[in-house]
Amino acid sequence: MLDRNLFTRVAHDPHDVRHQGAVTFPIYQNSLFTLGGSKAPNHPYSYSRGANPTVEELEKRLAALEGGEEARCFASGMSAISSAILSTVRAGDHIVCVNQAYPGTRALLEHYVPRFGVSVTFVDGSSLQAIESAIAANTKLLYLESPTSFFFELQNIAACATLAKERGLRTILDNSCATSCFQQPIALGVDMVVHSLSKYVGGHSDALGGAVIGTKGDIERISADERTLLGGVMSPHTASLMLRGLRTLPLRVERYDQTARVVAEYLNTLPFLAKVNYPGLADGPQSELARSQMSGFGGLMSFEWDASRETVQAWVEQLTYFRNGCSWGGYESLAIVLGSLEGLGKQGSNILIRLYTGMEDPEELTGDLAQAFAAVAVRA
Ligand SMILES: *Cc1c(COP(=O)(O)O)cnc(C)c1O
Repeated sequence: MLDRNLFTRVAHDPHDVRHQGAVTFPIYQNSLFTLGGSKAPNHPYSYSRGANPTVEELEKRLAALEGGEEARCFASGMSAISSAILSTVRAGDHIVCVNQAYPGTRALLEHYVPRFGVSVTFVDGSSLQAIESAIAANTKLLYLESPTSFFFELQNIAACATLAKERGLRTILDNSCATSCFQQPIALGVDMVVHSLSKYVGGHSDALGGAVIGTKGDIERISADERTLLGGVMSPHTASLMLRGLRTLPLRVERYDQTARVVAEYLNTLPFLAKVNYPGLADGPQSELARSQMSGFGGLMSFEWDASRETVQAWVEQLTYFRNGCSWGGYESLAIVLGSLEGLGKQGSNILIRLYTGMEDPEELTGDLAQAFAAVAVRA
């Protein structure tokens, strides 16, 4: 499953004499760093919108875990995503993006970037053919998110990266859902990886953050332009929370993965559910691709239910351990009604519900789901 060395890499730091051997990296709660001049050796810091030591420590660790040369952190995942996208296109360019990308990303591409003369085509990311057909002479960027946000559909990352290289496009992939623990897009040929650190990396539902990881050249450009000029930087305190989250990231995602498998397999046995979307299901439509490019799947899944909205909402309210909420990545299990398939750009009237399995006991979680089904009079 996970590379065992990962646990040592996130836990261990060498003794650092610069910080008196402090085991956690200090929070440099500074906006300003004065310059040493001729009296003291100079250092690279002047103002925290440009660089901050605590944020930089996180950036180095994220780049290493993702297998990229450099990383920069941002105030949120959306800040990282918008910066990465804006850095790759100019007026007259075209973007190809997968259909079921995160709603914020989709809104940015659908409503915002067209204001600057950039056009976008959304495609079924599970079809390489569909991606290829959407590429035009002015296409500059292929934007990927694998697994996707609501249906957890995969793109064949290596094949997409090869196609993009052949056609002279840049590639960006949102790796928030798989994390660097379960999926290594840069090794598969992707140019830039973006993350919402607000989810698994932060891990406790108490901080927002984002990151962009890629080559030194790309990242230095984003750092000088989008990050410094648009100014969506991460605070040093947040960076410290993210560094703390990273220490236990492999441990937590491995546990979420084990729990989610139990829950997804349970849901998959229920005859009244139309479909369970979890890439780790042995009989799933993309199970072979999933196993070839991911070493685990984490705690997110969704299921499609042919029931009325009222029934589904009553079911959610009946749950004890799964609380009703929209984010994920913390210790708490969550359930949210995402809407009808039709409203989400698919065919059919079934309702889509997303589950996130947290740290609770897997058997207690399946028991909770079962009692809620029984309470709304569906036999589980
Ligand atoms: C939450 C999320 C984002 C946005 O991140 P924020 O930190 O909320 O701005 C982007 N992509 C995915 C896949 C997400 O789940």
